[in-house]
Amino acid sequence: MADLTRLTAAETAAAIASGEASAVEVTQAHLDRIAAVDEKVHAFLHVDTDGALGAAEAVDAKRAKGEELGPLAGVPLALKDIFTTEGVPTTVGSKILEGWIPPYDATLTKRLKHAGVVILGKTNMDEFAMGSSTENSAYGPTGNPWDLTRIPGGSGGGSAAALASFQAPLAIGTDTGGSIRQPAAVTGTVGVKPTYGGVSRYGMVAFSSSLDQGGPCARTVLDAALLHQTIAGHDPMDSTSIDAPVPPVVEAARNGDVRGLRVGVVKEFAGEGYQAGVMQRFTESVELLRELGAEVVEVSCPSFTYALAAYYVIAPSECSSNLARFDGLRYGLRVADDGTHSAEEVTALTREAGFGPEVKRRIMLGTYALSSGYYDAYYGSAQKVRTLITRDFQRAFGDVDVLVSPTTPTTAFPIGERADDPMAMYLADLCTIPANLAGNAAMSLPCGLAPEDGLPVGLQIIAPAMADDRLYRVGAAVEAGFVERWGHPLLEEAPAL
Ligand code: GLN
Repeated sequence: MADLTRLTAAETAAAIASGEASAVEVTQAHLDRIAAVDEKVHAFLHVDTDGALGAAEAVDAKRAKGEELGPLAGVPLALKDIFTTEGVPTTVGSKILEGWIPPYDATLTKRLKHAGVVILGKTNMDEFAMGSSTENSAYGPTGNPWDLTRIPGGSGGGSAAALASFQAPLAIGTDTGGSIRQPAAVTGTVGVKPTYGGVSRYGMVAFSSSLDQGGPCARTVLDAALLHQTIAGHDPMDSTSIDAPVPPVVEAARNGDVRGLRVGVVKEFAGEGYQAGVMQRFTESVELLRELGAEVVEVSCPSFTYALAAYYVIAPSECSSNLARFDGLRYGLRVADDGTHSAEEVTALTREAGFGPEVKRRIMLGTYALSSGYYDAYYGSAQKVRTLITRDFQRAFGDVDVLVSPTTPTTAFPIGERADDPMAMYLADLCTIPANLAGNAAMSLPCGLAPEDGLPVGLQIIAPAMADDRLYRVGAAVEAGFVERWGHPLLEEAPAL
C-alpha cells in the first residue's frame, strides 16, 4: 500500500475496515514518521508509543472477530496537551504541571478511545492556551512545517503542525479566541470551533470557561466532520454542555451544495493590517462561492471592532480565577517544600517558578480588572460589549445563513518576530474572537497560498449556534472548488522536511 501517512482519515478508516492495512501498520507508519521528523517540527510533547500500539491492536482484534468498527476506528490522532489522559502526562504547556499524571480521562479522551481512535501522543501548545504562536510553551516552540523558521499558530500549534507534517491525519485543538482556527489557517489545514457547549469541557484544563471550546482539526473538511461527530454531544459532567442532538455535520460535509445559500462578507474584517495576498485569496473564495450558486452580500457588524479589547478583559479575568487552583499543593510542581516555608510561601514560590511571563501578565490583568474599584469600568464594560457583539451576529444571521472573512490578517510570521510585543501577537486573533464571545460555530479551511510568500491562507466561515452543519456544507463546497481548480496544496505540494 502507498504511504499510509498521506491518506485522509476517511481513507485510512476504509483501508482498515477492508483489511487493506491493519490499524497496527497504520499506527506504526505514523510513529515512524514522528521519529523521522518531529525532532525538527516539535509538534509533540509526549509520544505514547505503547498506548497507541495497544489501541491499534484492540481495533485489529475487533475486526478479526467480525465486530463492526466505527467510522474512525484505527485512525491515529494527535491530542492537544490540555485534555487529561489517564496515566499519560498532561502539562498544558506549563512547567507548573510538569510530571503530573492525571488519574482520569477527559470526556473527549474517553469518546476518542471508545471510537477506536488511536491517540499517538500529546501536542505542544502555548502555556495554558494563551498565545497565537506556540512560543509561550514552557517546552520550546513548534515550527511551521511549511517553513520551520515560522510559527505554526497558537495556542494549538502542535496539533496543526502534526497534521501539516503528516505525523497524524487527525488532531484535537481548543479554541478560546482562535486557537483552533488560526493555527489551521497558517498551516493549510482545517480547524473547527464547534458551537459553545457542543463538545464537553470535562477534563479540559480551563483557561476562560465561558469561551473555551474543544474541537476537531484535520486535513480535509470531511475528516473534520467525522471527528466532530465522534467527540460532540451532551455530557452530564459539563454543566454548559448542550443537551440536544449533534448537528448533522457528516451529512453536510458530504453534501456541499451552496446553491441559494446566503453568504455575508463581514465588512469590518478588511483594510489596514491585512496582507494583500490574504485579501486576494479571500476575494477569490467569495467569487468561488458566488459561482457555486451562493448569494453573496456585504454585512456590517460594527461592534466587532471592540471584540479584541473585550476579549482581553474577559479572558484574563476568567483565567485569574481558574488558575488559582495551581497552588503547589494539589498538582504538579512544588518548590521550596523544605520545612522552612509556610504553605502560603510554597504557593507563592511555586507560582513564581511554574508560570511563564504571558500567564503571569494575564493573571495580573484579570485580578486588576476584577478588583472592586475597577470591576464596573473594565469587566462590566467588556460584558456589555460582548452583548453588543452577540446582537450584531443576531442581526446579521437574520439576513444571511453564514458569514465569511479571512481567518487571520496575515500568513505565518517568523518565530521571534512578535514574541516581545503582546499587542502585535493579540492581533492575530482579530477575526476569530467574535465567534467565541457570542458562542457561534466557526471553521477555518485552506483557500490557497499567498502569492507574495507562498504560505497558506485560511478562509473563516461562521454559522449561528447549533448550525455547525452549515460550516461543513460551505466548507465542502469551497474545498472541492479549490481542489478542482488548483489542487490541494497540502496534499500535493507537501513541504519536504
Ligand atoms: N490567541 C488567543 C489568546 O492568546 C486565543 C487563545 C485560545 O484560543 N486559546 O488568548
